[in-house]
Amino acid sequence: MYTLACIECGKEYDPDTVIYTCECGGLLEVRFDLDSLEINFKLDGRGMKVWKYRDLLPVTTDPVTINEGGTPLYRCEKLGKVYGIENLFVKHEGMNPSGSFKDRGMTVGVTKAIELGRTAVACASTGNTSASMAMYAAKGGLVAVVLLPKGKVAMGKVAQALIYGAKVLAIRGNFDIALELVRAVADRLGFYLLNSLNPFRLEGQKTIAFEIVDELGYVPERIVLPVGNAGNISAIYKGFNELRELGFIDSVPRMTGIQAEGARPVVDAYENGMSDIIPYGSPETLATAIRIGNPVNAVKALKAIRESGGVALSVSDEEIISAQKDLARIEGIGVEPASAASIAGLKKLIERGEISRDDDVVCVVTGHLLKDPEEIISVCDNPLEVDPDINEIRRAISTDK
Ligand SMILES: *Cc1c(COP(=O)(O)O)cnc(C)c1O
Ligand SMILES: [Zn+2]
Repeated sequence: MYTLACIECGKEYDPDTVIYTCECGGLLEVRFDLDSLEINFKLDGRGMKVWKYRDLLPVTTDPVTINEGGTPLYRCEKLGKVYGIENLFVKHEGMNPSGSFKDRGMTVGVTKAIELGRTAVACASTGNTSASMAMYAAKGGLVAVVLLPKGKVAMGKVAQALIYGAKVLAIRGNFDIALELVRAVADRLGFYLLNSLNPFRLEGQKTIAFEIVDELGYVPERIVLPVGNAGNISAIYKGFNELRELGFIDSVPRMTGIQAEGARPVVDAYENGMSDIIPYGSPETLATAIRIGNPVNAVKALKAIRESGGVALSVSDEEIISAQKDLARIEGIGVEPASAASIAGLKKLIERGEISRDDDVVCVVTGHLLKDPEEIISVCDNPLEVDPDINEIRRAISTDK
C-alpha cells in the first residue's frame, strides 16, 4: 500500500521499478496510504528493533536481519548538568550490529534488493555505509561492491567491508566523486544502488523516530544529529510525521542538523534561505563520516529542518573532539567524531540560548568509537611507557596529566 513519489513534481512510480530519482531530477520518497494501513504494533516501549515496525516498512518478503535497532537511549544527567539542560538523552546508534545507524537502512535496502530479484549491490561510502552493506550483503548472499575515497576512510570501517567479503575499491577522489561514479556503475552494470539516494534505505532509518517515541512515551522538543549526505535527518523527520499522521503523536520535534565547519553546504543553504545547496568542491573535516560537499538529500533535509522549526549549525573539528571527550569521560559513551558533532552542536545551541534549560533534547550519536581508533589515538595522550617497577609506576601516575 505504497508508491514511490517525487518530492518535486509529485509523479508516482511503481515501487517495483528500479529507479532512484525522478525523470525531473527530483528525489523520490516512499509514500504510504496511511489511512488504509493496518498497524499492529504498539508504542509500549517493548521489544524495540527495526522490524517491530514492519507494518510501516515497504517490503513483504522475509527480512535479511542481523537484529538491528533497539539501540540504547541513555539519560545523560551528568552531561546535561555540565552543559546546562535538565533532560538530555543520547541515542547510541553505534550499538547497531555493524556499529552505525546505517544498519537500519541496509536491512530494509538489502531485503528490497532481493525482493526485486537483484543479486548484486553497490554503494559509495565514507565508510559506515560500506561496512553495513557488506555485512547485509553477506547475510543475504549478494555480491557487494563499494567505492571509498582513498585514504579518507577510518580504519575500522575498511576492515569491516573487507572481512564481510565486499569488493572494495579505493577511488582517487573524494566521496562526492565516488558517489557520482557508483551511480553510473549501478546504471551500466546493473548493481542495486544502496546509497541514501535509495528511498527504501531511508525507510529503515525512520525507525529511529519510532524508537524514540516508543521508549520515551512522548515527543521530545528537539532532535540533534550530524548531517553528511543528509539522509538520516530526512528519514527521522519522515518517521515522526508518519506517527503524527497515524495519530500516535500530535507534534514533531525540531530537527536540528549539525555539520562540520569544513563541509557545511546545508548550513549555508539554511542560513541563506535557499531550498538547495551549493556544493563544496573540497570538503574537509576530521569527522570523515560527514566529509561530504554535495549531500544528495539536501532538499529533503532543508525541508525537514524548516518545517519543524529546527536549525542547521556547524561546529569546528576542535569542538567535535572536545564533545567526543566530554561524552566519553562524563557519560561513558564512546562515539566516532561525526557522532560527536551532535553533542558539540548541542553545547553551542545551549550557549546561544537557542536551547533552553527545560527543553527535552535527544542527541542521536551515529557511530561507534571503535570505528576510528586512529583519530582517538591522535587526540589523546599516548600511554606512558614505564619500567616494570612499582616506584616507577607510582611516579608515573602521580605526575598529574
Ligand atoms: C553516515 C553517517 C553520518 C551522516 O548521515 P547522513 O545520513 O549521510 O547525513 C553521520 N555519522 C555517521 C557515523 C555516519 O556513518
Ligand atoms: Zn519529479
